[in-house]
Amino acid sequence: MTKAIKKILALSLSLAMLLSFTGINAGQVEANVVAAELKTESSAPTVLDFAHSVSSFEEAAKILQAQDPGQDKAFELESAELGKNTDGVLTQCGGDCAHAPSIIIPGIGQSDVFLLDENNERAKDKDGKDINAFPLLIDIEYLFLLIVPMVKMLVTQKDNGFTDLAAKILKKSLAKTQIDDKGQPVSNLEVKTYPSSVATCTPKERERVFNTIPISSYSDIVGEDHLYFFTYNSFGNNLDETENLYNFIQTVKRETGHDKINIVPISLGSTLAVSLFENYPQVSDDLNKVVFIVPAIDGSCLVGDLYKGQLSTDDESLYKTMLPELLGADDYTGYLINILIRIIPKQILHDLLDKVLGVLNDILVRNCTMIWGLVPSADYEEAAQKLFADGQSPLVKAQTENYYQAQLNAHDNILKLVEDGVQVFNVVDYNHPIYPFVPSSKNNNGDGLIHFDSESMGATAGYVDSPLPSDYTPKNPRCTDPSHNHISPDGIVDASTGLLPETTFYFYNQDHEGTGRNDVIMKLATELLAYDNLQDVHSMPNRFPQFNVGRETKGLMNDRLPKAKQVDQSLLAPEDAAQLQAAIERAEAMLADTVVDYQEFLAAENDLNQALIQIGLRNPPEDKKFEKYAQAVLKFVSDVLYQYWGPRGYSDKRGA
Ligand SMILES: [Zn+2]
Ligand SMILES: [Zn+2]
Repeated sequence: MTKAIKKILALSLSLAMLLSFTGINAGQVEANVVAAELKTESSAPTVLDFAHSVSSFEEAAKILQAQDPGQDKAFELESAELGKNTDGVLTQCGGDCAHAPSIIIPGIGQSDVFLLDENNERAKDKDGKDINAFPLLIDIEYLFLLIVPMVKMLVTQKDNGFTDLAAKILKKSLAKTQIDDKGQPVSNLEVKTYPSSVATCTPKERERVFNTIPISSYSDIVGEDHLYFFTYNSFGNNLDETENLYNFIQTVKRETGHDKINIVPISLGSTLAVSLFENYPQVSDDLNKVVFIVPAIDGSCLVGDLYKGQLSTDDESLYKTMLPELLGADDYTGYLINILIRIIPKQILHDLLDKVLGVLNDILVRNCTMIWGLVPSADYEEAAQKLFADGQSPLVKAQTENYYQAQLNAHDNILKLVEDGVQVFNVVDYNHPIYPFVPSSKNNNGDGLIHFDSESMGATAGYVDSPLPSDYTPKNPRCTDPSHNHISPDGIVDASTGLLPETTFYFYNQDHEGTGRNDVIMKLATELLAYDNLQDVHSMPNRFPQFNVGRETKGLMNDRLPKAKQVDQSLLAPEDAAQLQAAIERAEAMLADTVVDYQEFLAAENDLNQALIQIGLRNPPEDKKFEKYAQAVLKFVSDVLYQYWGPRGYSDKRGA
């Protein structure tokens, strides 16, 4: 979904290492350099704070204008047309159509959160751009203070206070990212909201929404006045954001005139749904359908391990496998770092990692209740004991306990919704290894970020690329209909043990981050939200089978295919025109088929690329000779060092 999450994780582990020999490399984490000193007062009230009191269209419009003065023009234009309905109802249908409106609740980092200055204006960076608080607010200048002590450490090969200083400096540089012991960000932040439907958005806002979640196929059917986008601070407060979500649902009911609405909790957004169902059980009266997409219903083992302080810092991970796996095996930088890292004595490296993680605990980890929502229930007690030791942050602790209960009750709460007539669907990615920071990645299937058990609500899977054993028998299956087969064609998944075997859809080899680029998942969500034909995994096996295969087609659909179709073929050489036309037809046929044949997807994509290259509309792929050579050489050196020098720094004695 977003590269940013990878960066945060990479940061928590490798910041220390990267800094250690480049000194200034932190710039590569897209850090937000903060120009001004800023007040640390609590956020200004959002539109949601007073939205519940809105009783007329005029009032809503006024609030919107106050909220976002630059954007009133577009809104007025739309409102003249939409305002025909009475009593604050903004939809064309007045609430009297067959399509319940939908609220998208996006994933981590998919809401814009801006840093505000002392005048509650958006703070600007040195290029005059708004400063986005995600993933981190870093005052990068502080990090330069580390260069001299680091050189000294490297020359002497002794710590001499270096790791303590590094921790202090890091803490200082991340001060604006701090969450306080009430679970609130200390910086003055603005969550960019979309308080009304997509129909009222400016073109720029609309583009942002659809670029984040490309689900215009849905609003094309039901109307943009039936689509809403809920935003929240990914590093904010879970209970506050849950309340905002509940209020937003009431706003959407009022504005659309519909009694029941759909929600689409995606990834981290699902933790707000888990909290919503626990703390606002009356919401079941407001809901028509819930369509979970790659949800973290029971957290992520990756975050659980991080919260328990368990990182893959074993020798092999640290000196050989982790960074190349993280940065991509084709990327030579991972191997380069493996080689360079040995200029730091091993003990200093371990101390540095420990202290950096300690700083991250103090700044973000302990007090951020949104991210606590990603700690699996099985890890909660241990993580809480560690992070709230000595009675630290009791208020935050109480909030995390609330969420822990919500997590424990999540499956029951979801079944209760189903009993109340709410249709609940789930979309799960699997067979993509969990990022290799943490020990759990070695024994959990998942989608890169969320482990399979959490995302599938308790279904069973073998490890990545490992089918269930031949003597496998399901434990406590939820489906006992002998005519159903809930085993995936690859033999890896048994869906029958998941909470919702009849309404959960699985995508093999689909990476969490690429979910939004998967057209089939968006088409599936559209079908589920806009119509009632797709009742379960048995309804449309020829279009939406329970088990499908991942494919990422966003670039093809939004860029290359439209480009190809705009070409005036009469201006081309006949054989080029024929090649282009054939490629267009193949790509369209491939896209129309929602039962994915991955080889056909690759072939169709390649045909179209080749046709565009042929007529000069696309550059041939660069010859990455240097990268390939560097990768091979550095991997060789890294592996040889590991084997013959061992897991230690260059100055460490053997066996260190
Ligand atoms: Zn309607
Ligand atoms: Zn079944």
